Amino acid sequence: MDFDAGSDDDVFEDARDRVDRPMLRLFTGYGRGQWIAFVVGLFSSIVARMLDLLPPLLLALAIDAVIQQQTAYSLFLVPDSLLPGEQGAQLWLTAGIIAASFGLGAVFHWSRNWGWNKFAQHVQHALRTDTYETMQRLNMDFFADKQTGEMMSVLSNDVNRLEKFLNDGLNSASRMIIMVVGIAAYLFYMNWQLALVALLPVPLIAVFTKRFIETIQPKYAEVRSTVGKLNSRLENNLSGIQIIKTANTEPYEADRVEDTSEDYLDANWDAIETRITFFPGLRLVSGLGFVATFVVGGLMVVGQPPGPLTASLSPGQFVAFIIYTQRFVWPMAQFGQIINMYQRAYASAERVFGLMDTPGRLEEAEDAPPLAVTEGRVEYDDVSFSYDSDDDPVLSDISFEADGGETVALVGPTGAGKSTVLKLLLRMYDVDAGAVRIDGQNVRDVQIQSIRRAIGYVSQETFLFYGTVRENIAYGTFDATDEEIVAAAEAAEADQFVRNLPDGYDTMVGERGVKLSGGQRQRIAIARAILKDPEVLILDEATSDVDTETEMLIQRSLDDLTADRTTFAIAHRLSTVKDADTILVVEDGRIVERGSHDELLSADGLYANLWAVQAGEIDELPAEFVERAIQRRARTDADD
Ligand code: ADP
Repeated sequence: MDFDAGSDDDVFEDARDRVDRPMLRLFTGYGRGQWIAFVVGLFSSIVARMLDLLPPLLLALAIDAVIQQQTAYSLFLVPDSLLPGEQGAQLWLTAGIIAASFGLGAVFHWSRNWGWNKFAQHVQHALRTDTYETMQRLNMDFFADKQTGEMMSVLSNDVNRLEKFLNDGLNSASRMIIMVVGIAAYLFYMNWQLALVALLPVPLIAVFTKRFIETIQPKYAEVRSTVGKLNSRLENNLSGIQIIKTANTEPYEADRVEDTSEDYLDANWDAIETRITFFPGLRLVSGLGFVATFVVGGLMVVGQPPGPLTASLSPGQFVAFIIYTQRFVWPMAQFGQIINMYQRAYASAERVFGLMDTPGRLEEAEDAPPLAVTEGRVEYDDVSFSYDSDDDPVLSDISFEADGGETVALVGPTGAGKSTVLKLLLRMYDVDAGAVRIDGQNVRDVQIQSIRRAIGYVSQETFLFYGTVRENIAYGTFDATDEEIVAAAEAAEADQFVRNLPDGYDTMVGERGVKLSGGQRQRIAIARAILKDPEVLILDEATSDVDTETEMLIQRSLDDLTADRTTFAIAHRLSTVKDADTILVVEDGRIVERGSHDELLSADGLYANLWAVQAGEIDELPAEFVERAIQRRARTDADD
């Protein structure tokens, strides 16, 4: 029996509350498209189970009518005149029907499995792709407060659990109903007195199963919680293996892993003890039922029904009774499992649909036109923004303009809000006040996709997808030719190192692939942007990870790339942006200085002093700026 454990801390609690009747939605929304498979599954289940029940009946007939010749040989629904009168022929006919019921049974078992599996697999597929698509459209803040593992668990565990319910759960439920109802009805029809005796253990089994579920449920929850902790510990240690070695903490970590593993062992053992007692217990109870039926039935056969009972029984019926009684117990014991599966499926459906119903998608009018870039003029008009409405604004009163083709640099301390400014241009978030416009069009009024299409974004961290270097460069420009890809790589100073990789452009990179250095990854990202040839370019510390020599080389190609297109560059190394048309100095979410390099130098503010430090003209920042930095740090630390 497989009960999986409960989920305790559910980050999707809110999402679950939003959902009404998730199982109904699962069937009407996703099951409907597969109704043929469902009907085949259900119909075949019924027929297959009825065929399963046939052989004991025929066995009873063979014993009573053919072997003992106590009763007349007759078959349900078949006129007696068509049946053979001779003993041998009757035996053959009975054997033939038994064989046919097994043969047909096999066919229906096959079509039953086909139906339920097809139904469940297709629903699972549609549900997973829908959930993924919905999820990737959600706002960035949805992702901000969730662990990747938690979202994976919806896309993977919850969807799988629904599949399991739709397949195993529905299958078991239909079997249980047919077996329990069918057998009970038949037993009562055959001999109600013995049926009562045979069904005596049923309430006992029900109580027993209920107790079992109540006992095992929290134990499984504990197993799940400890296995979660164990996995986190192992994962964390493996990622931090270098620190563990350099800090010489192997024995400490080995102890920690042993402790967590021991918790898991204990929790598991606790659950196992309960489980291994349950099944023999169930067997014992059903065995008692068997003995009772055997004794009472046997006495009825020999004509001495015990106590107040009066019925008599033929030997064939006696055998059929014994066999049916046995078949009755397991579906009964499964009842708990089915309920359990249903409850889990219900919770999973709530999470899946809750996620689908998550509000907080950036709004886009249905008839929003695509962004039409003419010159590439970008305008920030008194923009304020905060990631969380309860917090202080991250950006306040940001106003500036970049004419088409200009390069605007954003410099300033870490955490000042530079990246945030540019994320608003990509409409990763919506501004709280003010407006961001591209060629006069508010980014909120145009199709989101068209904005992202028009803007190339090279960030500090380059994510490489698992695939070839070629695929990674062409990511987003899927129709690029090989020549274009190589040309882009050349322009990004990446061609040479790519050719030196084991398989050149066909080398697999990303997780599980060849590891590239930070600088190499950045050059791939730059090649990606060059290939995309966007109207507006954002370089967010695009060359932070390369050495000065490579940076100079890349800078040359970047100069080409940025020459005629509106470019925003965030840089720590001021030398890389000194030629920008405008430099904005951002501090604490505000633009505190602005102008060209020369203008800013003569203004002798923060920029001029940072420049002097970086150029080696002065050893350290003047006290006034250091003081400001210290205050800023103190504020940020207090916020944390
Ligand atoms: P910069 O690019 O100048 O280093 P950022 O724009 O990355 O600064 O960050 C500005 C402020 O916003 C920082 O205080 C940072 O902690 C905060 N911040 C950045 N990204 C997020 C986010 N996704 N959610 C909440 N706060 C964020």
